[in-house]
Amino acid sequence: MEIEKIVLSQKDFFKTQQTKSLAFRKIYLEKLRNLIITNEDMLYEAIYKDFGKSKFDTFTTELSFILHDIDYYLKNLKSLAKPKKVGTNLVNQFGNSKIYADPLGCVLVIGAWNYPYQLSLSPIVAAIAAGNCCILKPSEIAENTMKAMAEIINKNFPPEYLYVYEGGIDETTRLLELKFDKIFFTGSTKVGKIIYKAASEHLTPVVLELGGKSPAIVTKDANLDIAAKRIVWGKFLNAGQTCVAPDYLLVEEVIQEQFLEMLRKYIKEFKYNADSEQYTRIINQRNFHRLTKLISPEKIYCGGGFSEEKLYIEPTILTDIHWNDEIMQEEIFGPLLPVLSFQNYNAALNSILELEKPLAAYLFTNNTEEKEIFTKRLSFGGGCINETIMHLGNGNLPFGGVGNSGIGNYHGKYGFDSFSHQKSVLEKATWGEPNIKYPPYSEKKLTWIRRLL
Ligand code: NAD
Repeated sequence: MEIEKIVLSQKDFFKTQQTKSLAFRKIYLEKLRNLIITNEDMLYEAIYKDFGKSKFDTFTTELSFILHDIDYYLKNLKSLAKPKKVGTNLVNQFGNSKIYADPLGCVLVIGAWNYPYQLSLSPIVAAIAAGNCCILKPSEIAENTMKAMAEIINKNFPPEYLYVYEGGIDETTRLLELKFDKIFFTGSTKVGKIIYKAASEHLTPVVLELGGKSPAIVTKDANLDIAAKRIVWGKFLNAGQTCVAPDYLLVEEVIQEQFLEMLRKYIKEFKYNADSEQYTRIINQRNFHRLTKLISPEKIYCGGGFSEEKLYIEPTILTDIHWNDEIMQEEIFGPLLPVLSFQNYNAALNSILELEKPLAAYLFTNNTEEKEIFTKRLSFGGGCINETIMHLGNGNLPFGGVGNSGIGNYHGKYGFDSFSHQKSVLEKATWGEPNIKYPPYSEKKLTWIRRLL
């Protein structure tokens, strides 16, 4: 069936009101959970083919997230969907006021390739929980995972409810001509602008989960060993192809040498070598070439090796980096970690403030004042103190960017809210009607109105 017809069929199906029933939503959330569990091996195989992502990483950073989200919604759906009673002001007496979490209708989710399952299916789970019909367009760059998701979903879900549309730019462009009730996009800031523009034609609301250059700052008051371990893990997980990976490092000058040694030690200890089945590969040749061009041989502190045949790039630390170097101009999205040093903490934060607002920021310190300044002065989507990436692992925290790193957020309650309309309803009693708001007006009425308002 043509995609235009499927979208129309979803709009019709939504009008039947079936997706609004909590029992209906639960049946399909459970179905998706069972499908993920029974097809786990196929999902691992597909992602390994796409970019050598290990079973361990796929479970911990993708499938466990989705399964956790499903369980969260199954457990909390009733309270999330329950109309929320709020106070009613004096002029609206006698009445009561409620906010209804209203499903939006037919929504479009566009995924990115770097965490292909999580970034496609977590929004879908939130959209289903909130009572919508959905079209999912995964990233064509991770072709095998796209096909795996299409295979699982299109065989087991009615297309008028949930459908995976496979394709690249042409297919996405075709989709964007249609009117959806929400578009949830994960990807680059550049494509995010294309999506936003297309959505504006239909006044479609959007969530844009974008990227940016996320800094990690290490001061002399940090626990250096734990900082090094957590930064190496967060940076080289998925070979640096993580939207919230520390993009670059700002290290206080007095500890720089000692800290670099610690980074080197952990890179070695974690065995990210060319034959490892646990270290993810670069997604394709285009990205491989883009990344290897960013390695200036004279700036290599450690690493710098690569193999085009294996699409492998060694974890690489680059030193003697300046703000105007090429590597500091765009999000790196690969296993290269440029290191800049600073003498003055506030001046370092000022330099970050000169750039676009990042998706994440990380501070490593045990100094209370430095922590306070970091959270108060910097604007970023979300982040951690003394950790990297793990804020994503707390479903109680909203996940999303700010400024150039995105619009809106999701995860847990926030995902449910993102796919719902907050519908306000005031219900009034039909007795006790004072005449004060009705014409003809008088000075006396105005005096009373002033008092009331
Ligand atoms: P991308 O922007 O190239 O592609 C994302 C999606 O947009 C894909 O489904 C693709 O098919 C589609 N697309 C690409 N070009 C298009 C065009 N011209 N018109 C319409 N659709 C188009 O991003 P990517 O390479 O898949 O992912 C990398 C980027 O995504 C990085 O910037 C990263 O930081 C960001 N990202 C953000 C998050 C987040 O949650 N905020 C998560 C992962 C990745």
